[in-house]
Amino acid sequence: MFMAASTPARRALVSACLAGVNCRYDGGACSSPTVMELVRMGRAVPVCPEQLGGLPTPRPPARVSGDGRAVLAGDARVTDAQGEDVTIQFLRGAAEVAALAHLLGARDAILKRGSPSCDPGPAGMGVTAALLAREGLDLRHEDDLAPEPRAALPPVGVKWWLVARDGPVFGAGLRSLLEGIRTAGTITGAALAMGMSYRQAWGRIRLTERRLGMKLVDTRAGGARGGATILTPGARELLDSFRGFEREVGEAAAASFERHFSPR
Ligand code: SF4
Repeated sequence: MFMAASTPARRALVSACLAGVNCRYDGGACSSPTVMELVRMGRAVPVCPEQLGGLPTPRPPARVSGDGRAVLAGDARVTDAQGEDVTIQFLRGAAEVAALAHLLGARDAILKRGSPSCDPGPAGMGVTAALLAREGLDLRHEDDLAPEPRAALPPVGVKWWLVARDGPVFGAGLRSLLEGIRTAGTITGAALAMGMSYRQAWGRIRLTERRLGMKLVDTRAGGARGGATILTPGARELLDSFRGFEREVGEAAAASFERHFSPR
C-alpha cells in the first residue's frame, strides 16, 4: 500500500514511463516501484501523452518555449531537437489524456518531473500537466510518493489441522486433549482442564479414531481409585510427531509473518 500526502480514492493517471512502459523519447522507461505497485493494484492507469499525440518512440527530445500553460494559451510552442514544431502533437496528446481522465473520473495524476508534457510544475509545467491542472486534477510528481507505513498487527498465532478427506483429524485442540489425558489419567480430568464436558471430549476422541482408523485411548474400568484412561502407543507416537510438526510449522509461520506483516 502506498500513499502520498493523501491516498487517491479512485484511480489516478500516471505517466506511463513511471509504470515501466518504454515510451520515453529515447525508447526507455524511468520505472518507479511505487507507481508500478499502484498500477498492479488497479489504483492507477498509465498514459503517455506524447505517444497518444501521435509521436513515435524513440523520437527527438522536445522543449517548450515558456511552459505548458503558455502553450495552451497559444503563447508558446514546442519544438524538438531537430527544430520540428511538435506543438500540435503535444496538444493532441494532452487532450487525449484529459479525455481519459474524464472517462475514468480521475482526480489525481502522478507525473514525470522534467518532461515537456508531464512535468507537474509549478515551474516548467508540461503541456499535459497544464491541461490536467486546468481540469481540476491534483498533480504530483513521483518523488511525492512515499511508502505508506504498514500498520503493525497485534501478535497473532496461526492454527492448523491435519485434514483428511472427510474433515480435520488432528489439531491443537486434540493435542491438548490427549496431553490432558496423559497428565490426568482420565478423560473427565482432561475435559475439565479444557473447559469442556466429558461427552464432548469423548465425542472428539471417537470421531478422530474413526477418521484415523486407529485407537487413541484405552479405558480401564474399576480399581481402588476408579477407572483410568491411558493413551495407546499409536496415540503417543502421533502426539510426539504432531508436536515436532507444530514446532517447525510455527517457526516457518513466524518467519513468514515477520516478512509479510511487520512494519516497514
Ligand atoms: S510523455 Fe510523459 S509518459 Fe510519455 S515518456 Fe514523456 S514523461 Fe513519460
